[in-house]
Amino acid sequence: MSRYLSKRLEDLEEYVPGEQPRDKKYIKLNTNESPFPPSPAVYEVLSRSAADNLRLYSDPCCTSLTETLCGVYGLKPENVVFGNGSDEILSFAFTAFCDSDTPAVFADITYGFYKVFAALNCIPFRQIPLKSDFSICPEDYINAGGTIFIANPNAPTGLILTESEIRRILEGNPDNVVVIDEAYIDFGGQSMLPLIGEYKNLLIVQTFSKSRSLAGARLGFAAGCPELIADLQKIRNSNNPYNINRLTQALGEAVLKDNEYFIKCTSEIIKNRTYMTDGLKSLGFSVIPSSANFVFAKHEAYDGGMLYRALKNKGVLVRHFDAPRISQYNRITVGSKAEADALLKAADEILRM
Ligand code: PMP
Repeated sequence: MSRYLSKRLEDLEEYVPGEQPRDKKYIKLNTNESPFPPSPAVYEVLSRSAADNLRLYSDPCCTSLTETLCGVYGLKPENVVFGNGSDEILSFAFTAFCDSDTPAVFADITYGFYKVFAALNCIPFRQIPLKSDFSICPEDYINAGGTIFIANPNAPTGLILTESEIRRILEGNPDNVVVIDEAYIDFGGQSMLPLIGEYKNLLIVQTFSKSRSLAGARLGFAAGCPELIADLQKIRNSNNPYNINRLTQALGEAVLKDNEYFIKCTSEIIKNRTYMTDGLKSLGFSVIPSSANFVFAKHEAYDGGMLYRALKNKGVLVRHFDAPRISQYNRITVGSKAEADALLKAADEILRM
């Protein structure tokens, strides 16, 4: 830390993303990426590559990408704003909708970045404990007195709230924004996008990083009523109006147009999730029922941190959180069937030792 760093940032605890080790090739099941390459349409965009045009700034309105997204989801352009990854959109939402009188409200066990966005923006936050089975109790969120952030499905548990539970939370907080982070919604969950016309306080956030295999291109979006979106546009334009580069706008459009490939990949992940869950259960793991592209699992006979390290030694990388209530668990990305087999074989060998 230099002596020049602002006092307000001295105690900021940064977000630590999952490891991206370079020392050897791992079966990488730690950051919920897709095991599949992006749609073949992406390669066409890259080979045409529009390299000449990179000398020009990108379209700050993402006009063409917006039209395509609106066509897919039945939205209007004034309902959407894009971010450089959904993390950027979430960051904008903390800036726009929270302050010292409007704290951020989220679960004690959820996406770790929420706490960091709050701290970075000097926003107070309140954490609501999940129930003992790690589910969210909607009643705990009625009149929450702040801007609510709910990952649905939740991370790292994989558990999902129903539409009626989310409606109850929206109706129980008419004076506050409720952000539903749907990073993992495409793996069998029901999106709340159709509700944005009904609720002025609903903001949905989605990403192209998981179900659309574009984690490295950095693309996410928020959808909500025009007033909420205008607020986010204000933050975006005051931060970086060219936040989505030319290539990413073109790649995003290409993957949206290839719905068949999207369905094929997400169905495969859902199938592999069942396969991996069954395999883990037969090795004695308890696995929380997941609606995401990861599972959260623990073994009574093996410490969570030790299991993470033993798997890493065998070349299989999973995510372990050394945090209260969940240190016995590991979060394991659902990849290809071959990756699930490698994980199950490694876990079996470790448990037999
Ligand atoms: N929300 C949740 C719940 C996540 O797990 C992630 C991935 N780390 C994100 C948002 C952000 O994803 P991205 O910035 O790649 O869109």
